[in-house]
Amino acid sequence: MKKDQVAFGIDIGGTNTKIGLFDHDGKLLSYLIHPTSKTLNPEDFIDQLAQECEQILLKEFNIGLGNSRIIGVGVGAPMANYFTGSVDHAPNLGWKDVPLQEFFKKKFKTNAVIENDANLAAVGEKKWGAGKDLTDFILVTLGTGVGTGLILDGKLYRGHQALGGEGGHIIIPNENKRLCSCGGLNHLESYLSAKGIKQTITELTREEWSIEKLGHEFNSGNLKAASIINTIAQDLATGLVSMAVLLGPQAFIIGGGVSKLGDTFNQVILKKFDELVHFSLKGKVKIITANLSSDKGAIYGGAAHIIDEVFSK
Ligand SMILES: [Zn+2]
Repeated sequence: MKKDQVAFGIDIGGTNTKIGLFDHDGKLLSYLIHPTSKTLNPEDFIDQLAQECEQILLKEFNIGLGNSRIIGVGVGAPMANYFTGSVDHAPNLGWKDVPLQEFFKKKFKTNAVIENDANLAAVGEKKWGAGKDLTDFILVTLGTGVGTGLILDGKLYRGHQALGGEGGHIIIPNENKRLCSCGGLNHLESYLSAKGIKQTITELTREEWSIEKLGHEFNSGNLKAASIINTIAQDLATGLVSMAVLLGPQAFIIGGGVSKLGDTFNQVILKKFDELVHFSLKGKVKIITANLSSDKGAIYGGAAHIIDEVFSK
């Protein structure tokens, strides 16, 4: 890749769409966030994104889409399937059978790949972030939902038909019975999504605390906050233990909004993890915070992914 070349990373979420323009080194040159359109059809929405990206290129470099300095675009979207290039069904976007990769290739006049956002975040951490020196890790994003991206033997692992790596929907034993957004019972996501964590906080305190307040109270030694953190860490560690015995990762990299709780939270998770995990893995798996960005991991990953894709051919 030449030093003056650039790549786009785009993350289409249920609420917002984030756009980043990156250089060859993973430096974020330009960033835009706006609500994901619920009224435009998918093709017109991608057309709108293309026009916005053209404006960024004009402003930054005085070039347009189709210029040879643009390597391509890596796109994250719910239920995006790398192999088929399509989103078969994404209920929170109201999308069905959308040929997303084809739309991006056409409107952006360049190379395009699509993935789910957790997979992208894992690729980003591998290329430019906390997973740079690791060959085997599991990225866990704790945000609106819970996603996992698997880097095994140095590569993203998707499973047959890209149906693997959905660690948010593993079942965790719990005396409560909580319904997951997918309709399943006691999935990791029903405890560790933003909504799940809020529910735990309300159950334990009868109050409504934000994640920020929880972090603040925990760091100032509030006992109630410590008990909440313990409960959440126990739920998460229970899920991580199952993933670890199966895949043997060197580390879990925690991303998403909840990762803002930082290293003290990681230490509590690790303590619970080491208590619960099989003896062969005790003390051998690290828990670290994603270092690209707690809310922009997927756009870094989008750029990293398209650069890897284009230059590995
Ligand atoms: Zn589920």
